[in-house]
Amino acid sequence: MIEFKNVSKQYENNLALDKLNLTIPTQDFFVLVGPSGSGKTTTLKMLNRLIEPTDGNIYFDDKRIIDYDLKQLRLQMGYVLQNIALFPNLNIQENIAIQAESLGWPRKDRIARARHLLSQVDLDPDQYATRMPSELSGGEQQRVGIIRALAIKPKVVLMDEPFSALDPISRKQLQDLVLRLHRELDMTFIFVTHDMHEALRLGQHIAVMRLGHIQQIGTGEEIMQHP
Ligand code: ADP
Ligand code: ADP
Repeated sequence: MIEFKNVSKQYENNLALDKLNLTIPTQDFFVLVGPSGSGKTTTLKMLNRLIEPTDGNIYFDDKRIIDYDLKQLRLQMGYVLQNIALFPNLNIQENIAIQAESLGWPRKDRIARARHLLSQVDLDPDQYATRMPSELSGGEQQRVGIIRALAIKPKVVLMDEPFSALDPISRKQLQDLVLRLHRELDMTFIFVTHDMHEALRLGQHIAVMRLGHIQQIGTGEEIMQHP
């Protein structure tokens, strides 16, 4: 479980988050939705400590995240960026396995994990494992970006507008794909978007943010009943 308790973030003269309280259940698909500037990215990046709060505490499995070893924390929090940013000089399986390699997983295990994940997102490993990123379409690269974040089996996967650069058809496919991955893996997914349709399609629980506050929180149905 993840808990934000009275978390605030002040950037110079800008209060980006104002005493945020939030609970994210373990293994939830949790969506933060709201207009640009409402504090979604700030909230997300606090979980892997890319941003530190100016006040309040965040707990992950009942321990303050500030008390975790930073490297250990980040191993538990896979991070999918909006811009995929695969390493251009590494092939696909090397990209997927890069964190596993730095953790010292044996080569055989790294390759097996990469190939397994490729097949889970409908990319035939025999065809894709040794291609270079430039030989993949945007949607295919984004699939690889997602499974790269899952490769070392983090407990939580943080996703910041991962589909915003995709055309509507790829976007729909990728939404189906993350829903499937979420069902198949025992992980908490936390997903940021400014698109309410996307939020309703994906989220088991949704927090609607506005100006550094949570305006509304609940299941999709609850959000729809009290818009
Ligand atoms: P998002 O796509 O989540 O809305 P932005 O485009 O607002 O993010 O911000 C992109 C990057 O610029 C982020 O790293 C964010 O921290 C930084 N940033 C956003 N607003 C400001 C600002 N007013 N001053 C300095 N940096 C900012
Ligand atoms: P969102 O992800 O919902 O677009 P952000 O968390 O990126 O919102 O930003 C929340 C607010 O904080 C915005 O007003 C943004 O301009 C501001 N902000 C974000 N990053 C920075 C930064 N590095 N420096 C100053 N202001 C920032």
